[in-house]
Amino acid sequence: MSKEGFTTQRVHADRRLNSPEHGGVHSSTSNSVLFEFKDAQGIIDAFQGKKAAHVYSRSSSPSVAALQNMVTDMEQGLASLCFATGMSAISSALLALVKSGDHLIVSQYLFGNTRSFFSSLLDLGIEIDFVDVSNIDDVANTRRDNTVAVYTETVANPVTQVADLSGIGEFCEKHDLLFMVDNTMTPPPLLIAKSWKASLVFTSLTKYVGGHGNALGGAVIDTGLFDWTRFANIKPAYQVADTAQWGITQIKKRGLRDLGGTLSPEAASQISIGMETMGLRMAKACENALSLASFLDNHDKIKHVYYPGLKAHPQHTVASQQMPKGYGAILSIELVNGADPVAFY
Ligand SMILES: *Cc1c(COP(=O)(O)O)cnc(C)c1O
Repeated sequence: MSKEGFTTQRVHADRRLNSPEHGGVHSSTSNSVLFEFKDAQGIIDAFQGKKAAHVYSRSSSPSVAALQNMVTDMEQGLASLCFATGMSAISSALLALVKSGDHLIVSQYLFGNTRSFFSSLLDLGIEIDFVDVSNIDDVANTRRDNTVAVYTETVANPVTQVADLSGIGEFCEKHDLLFMVDNTMTPPPLLIAKSWKASLVFTSLTKYVGGHGNALGGAVIDTGLFDWTRFANIKPAYQVADTAQWGITQIKKRGLRDLGGTLSPEAASQISIGMETMGLRMAKACENALSLASFLDNHDKIKHVYYPGLKAHPQHTVASQQMPKGYGAILSIELVNGADPVAFY
């Protein structure tokens, strides 16, 4: 393992992983949609996947590929794919991997739009149990013969319930279930989802990774821990020679290529610059959130503050184990009965 700190690694990642042209320290923003091939054989080899090449930038482009290498490195994964938004990463990956008749075990507390997307999956004939992910028995008891995956956020946005990642990771490993973890609220260096046996990690690059509110983006990272040969939904066409690539290949084809939620090269460049300072920003954001949570906790108009860093939080102990470097920067509050939220603000 490198002796370099998280920020040093991020600052050098683009140059080291992507060798930008002209010796640049950043990959350039490459706007070409199409790419030239010298001869017909070159096109055939690229289309048949025999030679790695950018063909049409809905599926891959130099700037997005550069960011993907950096995201994979940051999450210590095997491979990743970037999308236009976090929602696009989540919806594309799920639509690429699950089918009608499959059963999912999903956290009852999710980012609202993700929860809404799972309701759409119900309409498509996918069966879902929404469970308490802080309680491994609640998760385990809902497993059926047709269960294919468990989906949770590390810390639920915005109610801050903390998932029992350790318990769920072991449960998924034992039963060959895909363990899908949305790590948007606690990105590295706070929490490495792979350490808790996540199979696929989702992150909204729009939030802490990009960090400046100037670009939308999302990513799915394959940690390399899941054995895709045990997943019944990989189509023969995507059962490539390297079995570790089955999942990301199917997400790339059926998710990114067919659904088309492509990240723009400009956004990829903005996000990759933002990423360099995320370690510093996250540390400060966690510190500020803890001060704010403590302050609000003593406020006479507030009945309850939800923040995993507070000792009274129901999963404070688990949170301390899973996120020893900081409890994230999301918190929510409940006002005392009768308090007017508009006037309070
Ligand atoms: C914001 C968010 C998303 C969606 O990301 P977008 O980039 O806004 O589409 C998904 N999950 C969580 C936990 C989020 O906070």
